[in-house]
Amino acid sequence: MTREAATVASRLDEATARIASALGLKKREARLEARVLAAFAWNVAPAWLIAHDTDLPSEAQTTQFETLLARRLAGEPVAHLTGTREFFGRTFQVSPDVLIPRPDTELLVERALARIPPDQTVDVLDLGTGSGCIALTLALERPLAHVTATDRSAAALAVAQRNASILDAHVEFLNSDWFDGLGGRRFDLIVSNPPYIPAADPHLSRGDVRFEPQTALVAGMDGLDDLRRLIAAAGAHLKPGGTLLLEHGYDQAGAVRDLLRRSGFFHPQSWRDLAGHERVSGGDLSE
Ligand code: GLN
Repeated sequence: MTREAATVASRLDEATARIASALGLKKREARLEARVLAAFAWNVAPAWLIAHDTDLPSEAQTTQFETLLARRLAGEPVAHLTGTREFFGRTFQVSPDVLIPRPDTELLVERALARIPPDQTVDVLDLGTGSGCIALTLALERPLAHVTATDRSAAALAVAQRNASILDAHVEFLNSDWFDGLGGRRFDLIVSNPPYIPAADPHLSRGDVRFEPQTALVAGMDGLDDLRRLIAAAGAHLKPGGTLLLEHGYDQAGAVRDLLRRSGFFHPQSWRDLAGHERVSGGDLSE
């Protein structure tokens, strides 16, 4: 097929308009996606696209970009098309076997870092690690911490392990359904971003989540099934004075604080994400 010659800039403009209209995104988000996809398709840095905006992409380059664009227009997440997503300033490999790291989860990491003194050896557990973005970030930011990461999914653990070797993070991995494979081990800090979306939530049929593992997203009728299980069992795996920190849905903070209180955690607290929602809650085992 012959196409009329078009510049890099005009290809990007056209792609931006198509992404915005097919996916209902704001123009600014759509432009960012068009740039990420073009840079990936052509194996260039995003800055190259600006410096070369009047270049004419070759037929092969145009086809490569169009192929990716068609998949994006059909809804596939950008992170699945490029195979990566940035989290806390680092690049993580992503596959359909894991949840795509989200900026919201950086709040959980920040709260966890505040609980890990840089000069102490602290035992940390990340339950349901997925891509490993939480566990690996903690291990890289706090080299003295001993970080253990679990997942029930062997495929997810393989992604996390690959990320650990690429990023040179020292993390102990364990195939375990929540605490089931941990025996009597106890930790100073337990963190998790468990599934927390209610099964009937209409948001499950829109956007990236359609392409992500449902087991990493959905947690029963009220979205609290896994949070309930984790909170009930966490005390037996924390050292005296240990801390539990959990990500949860934008409207679940009150319920999670109640669950924490009822399981013997003191002064449960919640923290707000960038959108202003209480997104992370935690408590500890000392008064
Ligand atoms: N924050 C994700 C979303 O709403 C859900 C993550 C999770 O269930 N742990 O898409």
